[in-house]
Amino acid sequence: MNSKSFLVPDPIYDYILKTTLREIPVQRELRERTATMPQARMQTGPDQLQFMQILVRAIQARRCIEVGVYTGASALAVALAIPDDGTIVACDVSEEYTAIAREFWQRAGVEHKIDLHLAPGDETLKGLLLQQGGYDFAYIDADKTNYDAYYELVLRLLRPGGLIAIDNVLWGGDVADPAETDADTVALRKLNEKIGRDERVDASLLTIGDGLSIVRKR
Ligand code: CA
Repeated sequence: MNSKSFLVPDPIYDYILKTTLREIPVQRELRERTATMPQARMQTGPDQLQFMQILVRAIQARRCIEVGVYTGASALAVALAIPDDGTIVACDVSEEYTAIAREFWQRAGVEHKIDLHLAPGDETLKGLLLQQGGYDFAYIDADKTNYDAYYELVLRLLRPGGLIAIDNVLWGGDVADPAETDADTVALRKLNEKIGRDERVDASLLTIGDGLSIVRKR
């Protein structure tokens, strides 16, 4: 149901959620509604969202970017963790899924913090580059073959010390299996290797969810 880590046995994951999860009711409703939808696997797990809220709070992020909104749970979590005058530029191409996102952002009272752009992510990010950089936090969770393009654009938009969280970097374990050569796996594998030796950043690949890379701009 949830996009739990393929590395964590069900009883352990259930224990973590039961013992540590802090969701407001709107978050839980959105999670349960999304779980009934096609492509429910795309939903970021609630334990991971809670971890991302800690990152956002720890660096006192105010200006954020999200590439890949789906039904809005990650933007909702980040919006709840930033101050009332904080903003998220949210990029997606699906009117259908983001309609659900908007509904729940409104119900949570955070819609004024989220600036949704229905356009290809790289176009929106290039537009931001023409305006003003200095973003604090970004979450990349979109089409995997464009991850490297999103990474490069977001890195330019971030302030030094800003963080990028990149989702699905283990891709169910396929990145570690040389026999897997589909386009998504190859793109993720290349980006992981690049970030692993990227002197512009500090980085750590976590085994939460489907693999989450935390990248800090130097
Ligand atoms: Ca994801």
